Amino acid sequence: MAVTRFAPSPTGFLHVGSARTALYCWLWAKHHVGKFILRIEDTDRERSTDEATQIILDGLKWLGLEWDEGPIFQTARTQRYSEVIQQLLDSGHAYKCYCSKDRLEQLREQQMQAKQKPKYDGKCRDIGEQDAPYVIRFKTPQEGSIVFRDLIKGKIEVANAELDDLVLARQDGSPTYNLTVVVDDADMHITHVLRGDDHINNTPRQVHIFNALGLTAPEYAHMPMLLGPDGKKYSKRHGAASVLQFEQDGILPEALINYLVRLGWSHGDQEIFTLEELIEHFDIAGIHNAAAQVNPEKLLWLNQHYLKTLPIEQTAKRLEPFMAACEVNLSDGPTLGAIVDAFKERSKTLIDMAEQAQGFYRDEALFDEKAVAKHLKPEACEILNKLVGKLKLIKDWTAQNIHECIHAFVADSGLKFGKVGPPLRVAATGSMDSPALDVTLALLGRERALKRIQTALDTYGR
Ligand code: GLU
Repeated sequence: MAVTRFAPSPTGFLHVGSARTALYCWLWAKHHVGKFILRIEDTDRERSTDEATQIILDGLKWLGLEWDEGPIFQTARTQRYSEVIQQLLDSGHAYKCYCSKDRLEQLREQQMQAKQKPKYDGKCRDIGEQDAPYVIRFKTPQEGSIVFRDLIKGKIEVANAELDDLVLARQDGSPTYNLTVVVDDADMHITHVLRGDDHINNTPRQVHIFNALGLTAPEYAHMPMLLGPDGKKYSKRHGAASVLQFEQDGILPEALINYLVRLGWSHGDQEIFTLEELIEHFDIAGIHNAAAQVNPEKLLWLNQHYLKTLPIEQTAKRLEPFMAACEVNLSDGPTLGAIVDAFKERSKTLIDMAEQAQGFYRDEALFDEKAVAKHLKPEACEILNKLVGKLKLIKDWTAQNIHECIHAFVADSGLKFGKVGPPLRVAATGSMDSPALDVTLALLGRERALKRIQTALDTYGR
């Protein structure tokens, strides 16, 4: 059995590094037919927003990482945290600290001057009740060390003397991160905590709190951070680091999932995985203990793979908003399924596909001067004029019939295809950049194709 959780703080966008964490948690839960819980760590009221929460929910849904339980909001659990803090006070594992900010500041300065690591000195550990404002601190054991085995990094041991008496509750009674995480992980029966290794310093503190509560800590797996293309920590500076941005850039969720999973995990040298394969093979033991560097080229390669191989109707649905953004009337042109079929081999993203395909919904072709100068010279237009006569005879305007008509014309005229195809293509589409000629003409539809060719002849053929 495995119960995992994804516990983002809703303070910004859904970073791809976080999405990778969510994916690994989701896969580990699915692999064990367990449970994946979504927990929103929104106790920082100043930085948390509803909008950021929505972005997380939308991003996970878009990726297909549906949660089995939640979202559970930490702000709804305040009562429970207070209970546990009281429990720790009652059992002597926590104490009230009345030290003023000034005193703590002075202490810190003294320690810095003496080249010591700043740390609370425990003055209030045993002073008893006072009539003054206080925070609640954890009574960290002073002797010995705390040991836990990280599933990725191996044994981790930290001397207790290194650890502070961390604050569990602030002066206003609000609980701090380490406390809420432990209470939640315990109450939600989390078996495996997979998270970024920026949290590894918190883990000894969390294990201490588990011990103080007489509970067993979950297993931990801390994943190395992602590195940007420049080898530095992957962040906003690197542009598209948000899941939403990838969606808006026309990346398919299947491609992003496949890309993310390989950023830090491998199964032999397999690169392409179906979701079923991932669920079957995913294993924490396969997570690398070295930071992975993002690779935008590889993401595009995977995106192309999924554009080519996913069911056409599925891609067509995803293409729709991108086509709509091109401000074309989708009822006045080919079906999106036909577009996907024609462009799937030649597009890197949905944006790319929409940009290439939008012309099929417009009456006029957009003429590329260079292509016109090269392929619509007077003698080419003369040939084209004759060919149009034949094309007009086609009754059933299908790619197959168009193909046969063009090839019959080439054979009968004794011309090379190179004298016939390019002028026809440029006349019908305005450029040399389109799918196979017969498919292109069929997609345009009889009326629009013939009209465009006539316009080209009228414009350039004199
Ligand atoms: N809320 C924390 C964060 O967004 C994650 C805490 C955890 O996974 O333990 O970084």
